[in-house]
Amino acid sequence: MKVNQDRIKKRMEALAQIGKFGETGVNRVAFTEKHKESVLLVQEWMNQLGLTTKIDHFGNLIGRLEGSSIDKPVVMVGSHLDSQPNGGRFDGTIGVVGALEVVECMIENQVSTDTPIEVIAFSDEEGCRFNNGLFGSRGLTGKVTEEEWESKDRDGVTKREALRLFGCDPDKAEDSVYPPDKIACFIEMHIEQGPVLEKQDASIGVVEGIAGPLWATVEIIGEAGHAGSVPMAMRKDSLLFASYAMSEFNQIVSSYVGSPLVGTVGNIDVYPNSRNVIPEKVRFTIDLRDIDLKRRNEAFEKFEFALSRLADEFQFAYKIEMDSDLEPKLCSDKLIDLLVEEGKEINPSVPTLMSGPFHDALIMADFCNTGMIFVRSKDGKSHTPEEYSRMEDITEGAQLLLQVTNQLCAAKTEQV
Ligand SMILES: [Zn+2]
Repeated sequence: MKVNQDRIKKRMEALAQIGKFGETGVNRVAFTEKHKESVLLVQEWMNQLGLTTKIDHFGNLIGRLEGSSIDKPVVMVGSHLDSQPNGGRFDGTIGVVGALEVVECMIENQVSTDTPIEVIAFSDEEGCRFNNGLFGSRGLTGKVTEEEWESKDRDGVTKREALRLFGCDPDKAEDSVYPPDKIACFIEMHIEQGPVLEKQDASIGVVEGIAGPLWATVEIIGEAGHAGSVPMAMRKDSLLFASYAMSEFNQIVSSYVGSPLVGTVGNIDVYPNSRNVIPEKVRFTIDLRDIDLKRRNEAFEKFEFALSRLADEFQFAYKIEMDSDLEPKLCSDKLIDLLVEEGKEINPSVPTLMSGPFHDALIMADFCNTGMIFVRSKDGKSHTPEEYSRMEDITEGAQLLLQVTNQLCAAKTEQV
């Protein structure tokens, strides 16, 4: 049984048109019209294959292929369709297209399965709109809190409103939560978004564990004043203080030489953001990740200490808001072994590696046995129109996804 590269390519190309900007850019931010358009297109493909489809109340698209045992826990495969505002064509998309190809291949080859298979396109994986990612997988596993529905995007739209506009009913969200015993396992194929596979000259790899991100927002409060009239010695310039804090943050994280710990300040808002006013208030985000929870938390504590020392020295007020704090997770040993074994048939060198970026698999790993396949990224790039993975590599990843899914759920395989 072989996946069809041509079909994968055509679907990838069709999805690349939705939210397209420039030659290779994709902008499909969660719960926008373009995101919806991509979900509806994939739903149409699922319907054509005869899957039972639904968009749940968290905005997840699910297509189900029944097995002979209706009550058996499902084998779930998929990824996400939403993107960063300045994203590329491959992040998330290859996992959804790959999962669909797996099911199409099994139908085509008349594989009769014992276990039902569900192809899923999780919603709002990226988290850039509401500052909190992995929404679809957290929703499905019952981890979305009541207050999260009231969080707002930059335009003041609440998550509740955004989901309503998307066609969901947040009041019925409870109905979309899966009981823990309903999912046997989850497998996700995703671009690596890093340079490891390329360096090892490997097209695909098997993920051993996923780093847990700590997201926080730091607010520094100074004093506004006219840029022309307040003498330098009398200023409380919040942007200047924020720059000291960011520099300290970078030094702390960089001091863990040789470890996978990484820290980023990716967003900054300056108030009132005017060229002739001394900034009164600055808010900036912290993204801190490691596969080792203890080391990650230790680095964050050092930053908190550095910030309080700076506040004492320069006499400014500040606060830290915790946006999300997820523990690193290891993939299931059994699935890692199966993926590595099956991988050898496709490509003699299938390395195992850790994931720095988070994925829906991070949430699912808490809920069921989880496995992950990485596909080589050109120059390790992602979240940019320059992100690129070769179609041959994606096809190898999809082939591995097919073989493992087939192993996990085929009771009797009849090749025609
Ligand atoms: Zn992704």
